[in-house]
Amino acid sequence: MSDLFAKRKLFGTDGVRGIVNENFDVFFASRLAMAIASYFPPGSRALVGGDARVGNPAIYGAVLSALAACGSKVYDGGLAPTPAIQLAVRDMGFDYGVVVTASHNPPQWVGMKLILSDGIEAPVNVELEVERLFFENRFRRVPWHEVRGIEKLPTVNDHYVEAIKRHVDREKIARKGLRAVADCANSVAALTTPRLLKELGVKVMSVNADLGIPYRNYEPAPENLEDTAKVVKALNADFAVTHDGDGDRAIFIDRRGRVIPGDVSAVILIDYIARKRPDLPKRVVTAISTSHFLMKENVERRGITVIWTRVGFVNIARRIKELGGALAGFEDNGGFGYVPHQPVRDGGMSAALMAELLAETGKDLAELVDAVRKPTIIRTKVPLPDRSRVPEVYRVLKSRYGGKEVIEIDGLKVIADDYAFLVRPSGTEPIMRITVESWSSDLANELAEELKRIVTEVIGSRA
Ligand code: MG
Repeated sequence: MSDLFAKRKLFGTDGVRGIVNENFDVFFASRLAMAIASYFPPGSRALVGGDARVGNPAIYGAVLSALAACGSKVYDGGLAPTPAIQLAVRDMGFDYGVVVTASHNPPQWVGMKLILSDGIEAPVNVELEVERLFFENRFRRVPWHEVRGIEKLPTVNDHYVEAIKRHVDREKIARKGLRAVADCANSVAALTTPRLLKELGVKVMSVNADLGIPYRNYEPAPENLEDTAKVVKALNADFAVTHDGDGDRAIFIDRRGRVIPGDVSAVILIDYIARKRPDLPKRVVTAISTSHFLMKENVERRGITVIWTRVGFVNIARRIKELGGALAGFEDNGGFGYVPHQPVRDGGMSAALMAELLAETGKDLAELVDAVRKPTIIRTKVPLPDRSRVPEVYRVLKSRYGGKEVIEIDGLKVIADDYAFLVRPSGTEPIMRITVESWSSDLANELAEELKRIVTEVIGSRA
């Protein structure tokens, strides 16, 4: 399976991305969309939607045209969060969807994601087939009388907001009189999250809620959320939800202005979902990059099984489907999927669950965060100019740290009693990422230094 992932030339962990009018222009977008439409039978129903990136209008129209030219019946969903498009594809019986988005990448980027009829991103074998059609120029140009009209579908966001509302108790939330800040990253979440929370009876103050050139980086990382955190503190709001450019991630801020890491909010939400929905299978699915000790201490101790996958939410969502369900799927960057709604990450759904959790428990988010036991986690990296050295790195580390639990689904994860580490080449940059965790910060720091030294030596030496 790992060989297949390495064979991809266009698709990365999350669709195809590039810089508008540099390596991702209208010709490229058209050809990629033609390859996608050619993969599906003629007459397939396709839903297209996108985020509010400034470069998108140059790409979006090309995608609509190219899909129609290759025989798909195209519906234009317009500006919508990625999870709203995904939900519409699944619920409205589309054969596939294309989302024009580069998620959290900087503003000059654009991208495309392919969604299958189940609402989940295409798996690697489909991506490879689309790439083959792309590189071999095997496009199905249909005869003139088979080109269908492009229809507007203006109900994608309405369907999405209504669907989320059905999964939470509006009365309970409204009675609590919560006050929240919604930071919409100047993109499509502005069309759904403030409205959703308001309709749930939460008093919402929106920031970065106009569409266009973003005031902050699209990534909801702590360094980009300092202003929003100040707003939360000044208002003494119960919480803030902050999104990325396509609204599939939700990073929360507590009353004290602390940006809560995505894995910590996931632990809090999982604990709540397990009590809210005792009928669901007691398991969660997450990527191998998530902290082992955080899960062991706060999730497995509550009788919930943790299933590990490769990095990339598509792997988490597809695994949930194979398993026949779970409480949730998540990654540590704020991607969280509430499975009874949809198994893909969904920033709006996460915000609604957080509101319900706070109303139901009567607790303050800051208190809940303090109650999560968090190991020390050190993230570092070393240059990796030559990827062929990776197997040798794994071999040396396995012999050096032998006898421990070893997981090799994506990189090398070694788990011992008092520490765990993951060594994994980046999917996008020529670097080797090293993540070390332990309850002892001294041990974590020492081990991170040691691993950095060993990995650098092995990469630098010649076999
Ligand atoms: Mg995203």
